[in-house]
Amino acid sequence: MQDYKSHQVLDCVLECVTAPDKQQLDGIQHFLEKQYPDCEIYITLVNNPKIVSGFILRAGNEEYDWSQAGRQKLLEDTLNSMDVSGRNTISSQKGIISILHGRLDDVEIKSKEVGHVSQVGDGIVYIYGIEHAMYGEVILFENGLQGMVQDIRIDEIGCILLGSDNGIEEGMKAVRTERMAGIPVGNAYIGRVVNALGAPIDGKEGIAASDYRPIEQPAPGILDRKSVSTPLETGILSIDSMFPIGRGQRELIIGDRQTGKTSIAIDTILNQKDKNVICIYVAIGQKASTVSKLVNTLEKHGAMSYTIVMSATASDPASLQYIAPYSGTAMAEYFMYRGHDVLIVYDDLSKHAVAYRALSLLMERSPGREAYPGDVFYLHSRLLERSSRLKDELGGGSITALPIVETQAGDVSAYIPTNVISITDGQIFLESDLFFSGMRPAVNVGLSVSRVGGAAQTKAMKKAAGSIRIDLAQYRETEVFTQFSSDLDEATKQQLLYGRGLMELLKQPLCKPLSLHEQVITLSAANQKLLLDIPVEKIKEFQKGMLVYVEQHYPGIVDEIEQMHMLSDSLAQRIAEAVQEYKSQVVKPDGQPA
Ligand code: ATP
Ligand code: MG
Repeated sequence: MQDYKSHQVLDCVLECVTAPDKQQLDGIQHFLEKQYPDCEIYITLVNNPKIVSGFILRAGNEEYDWSQAGRQKLLEDTLNSMDVSGRNTISSQKGIISILHGRLDDVEIKSKEVGHVSQVGDGIVYIYGIEHAMYGEVILFENGLQGMVQDIRIDEIGCILLGSDNGIEEGMKAVRTERMAGIPVGNAYIGRVVNALGAPIDGKEGIAASDYRPIEQPAPGILDRKSVSTPLETGILSIDSMFPIGRGQRELIIGDRQTGKTSIAIDTILNQKDKNVICIYVAIGQKASTVSKLVNTLEKHGAMSYTIVMSATASDPASLQYIAPYSGTAMAEYFMYRGHDVLIVYDDLSKHAVAYRALSLLMERSPGREAYPGDVFYLHSRLLERSSRLKDELGGGSITALPIVETQAGDVSAYIPTNVISITDGQIFLESDLFFSGMRPAVNVGLSVSRVGGAAQTKAMKKAAGSIRIDLAQYRETEVFTQFSSDLDEATKQQLLYGRGLMELLKQPLCKPLSLHEQVITLSAANQKLLLDIPVEKIKEFQKGMLVYVEQHYPGIVDEIEQMHMLSDSLAQRIAEAVQEYKSQVVKPDGQPA
C-alpha cells in the first residue's frame, strides 16, 4: 500500500462498460476512503467495452482489476497458490467466497502495482510507476512476457527480459507479481531438454511440474551440512585415483579451449548409470549444435534416463544465459531436499560471467577488472555455495558441482579462473600441450588438486592408488632432466620406464568409464611393477586384455573389490598372480606377443 501524504489529492480512474449506479459508486468511494484514509478522492469514469463485465479501478499507480478476466485470474492464482513468497493476492478464505458471490464489500483484495515502460533495448527494460518492487521479482508485461527486476532506482526500476524484447514498446503496462523469479521443477523433468525457464525444447510433450522453486535461494547453513565422505566416481582413472571427487563437493574443470573439458563432464555423467545419482547438465552460451550432439551421446549411452539438460545457447538473450545456472541449481535442490544425490555440470562459467558482464554494462554499472562488474565474485560464490551435502536429518541428499572454466593460453591467474578456483574445493587442470601430445584426458597432475582428498575415496582405491601422484611428479621431473643424456643409471631408467607406463595407463578414450574394480586392478598391477616389461605402445592393449582375463577367470577378485571396497594384502597378491598368469599367456619374456 502506498503511503500517500495527508490530504493529497488522489485521482482515480474507473474503467467500466456500464456506468455504476449511485449506490455502487458510493460503495467504491467508501472502499477507496478506507484504503487511502488521508487522501481526497476524485473518481473519473471511463468507458471501456473490452473488459466485458465488472470494472478496473486505478488509484495512483495501483490497480484493482475487477473485470471478468481479472477476477478469473485472481481466483486461479489463489486456488493454485503458486506464490513462492507464500502470500496470496487474496488473503482470506472469506475473500474467495465473496468473489464467488460477486460481492465487493468486505473483500480483502490487494491491489496490483502497475507501471509503464519508459525505455527498452538489448533485453533491458526500464519501468516507471512501480515503486515497491523487490530485487529478483518477476514483472509481467502486457504482452505476457516476463522480466526480472535487477536494478532499483529512485524513480524507475530496471528489468532483464526473460525472452526476446520484440513487442515491448514504450508506455506498455507492466505489473508487479510479488513473486520471486522461479522455475517449475519435478521428477517429470528427468530425461528432458529444457531452456533456462524450464520450458521443454526437445519437441516432446509438455512437462507436468510438481513444484515451483525460486531460482535464487540461500545456500544451506553450516549446521545443515555434513562433511563429504562418499565418492562420486567419474570413471576416469586419472581423476578417481589422484583427485577423487566426493558427493557434495565442487570440483572445477579448467583448461584452454578444446582440451576435453566437456568430455570429462560427460564421461562422469555416463559413469553415474545405476549409481542413484541424478545428473543435470547446464549448457551456457554454447552452440545449439554442440548441445544437440551432446544430448545424442547421452541418449546413445542410456544416460538420459537420469539426466536433465538445461540449455541457454549463444543465441539466447544474455538474461537467460545469466539465470541458467541458477535455474539448474533450483532444479537440483528440488532433488537434494528429497534426499537424492545430484551431479550438476555448469558448462561453462566463463561464458556465464561474460553474459553477466553484458547485462551489467547495459545497466550502466561501473566496470572493474577485465570490464567485469564488482560483484562478479559473488555471482559465482552464491551459485556454488548451494552445492552441499545435507546432514542425515535433512535427508542426506547432496549436490556435487562440476563447474567448467575456459582459460586463455593456459592463464589460470586471469580474473574469472582465480575467482572460481578460490571458491571450489579443487580443480582438474587440463593442458593443451598434453592434449596434443596424445595424453587424453590431458590432466596436469602437478596443477590439479582435490581438497577433499582421500575422504572421498574407497579404501580399495586409496590403497591401489598408493603413491602414483608422487611417482608421476618424479617421473616428469626426471624426464625433463634426462632429455638430452643417454647415459642413465639403472634406477633412473626403471623410474622412467615405470612413469611412462603409468602415463600410458592413464590415457582413456571417450565414453569408456572404468568401474571401480577395473581401476583397482589396473593400479594394483602397475604398483606391483608387473607392467614394466611390457613395451609402452602395447600397454593399453595389455590392460584391456588383462581386465577381461581377470573378470572371466577370477570373478572372486572382482566381487571382493566391488562389495568390500577393500584391497587387502592377500587380494593384491591374488591380483598379481592373475596378472602374471595372463602375462605368461600373451607375452614372451622378451616382451613380444606370444
Ligand atoms: P570447448 O572449449 O570447445 O568447450 P572442450 O574443452 O570442452 O572444448 P571437448 O569438446 O570435450 O573439449 O573435446 C574436444 C575434442 O577432443 C573433441 O573432439 C573430443 O572428441 C576430443 N577428446 C576429448 N577427450 C578425449 C579423449 N579422452 N580421448 C580422445 N579424444 C578426446
Ligand atoms: Mg566444452
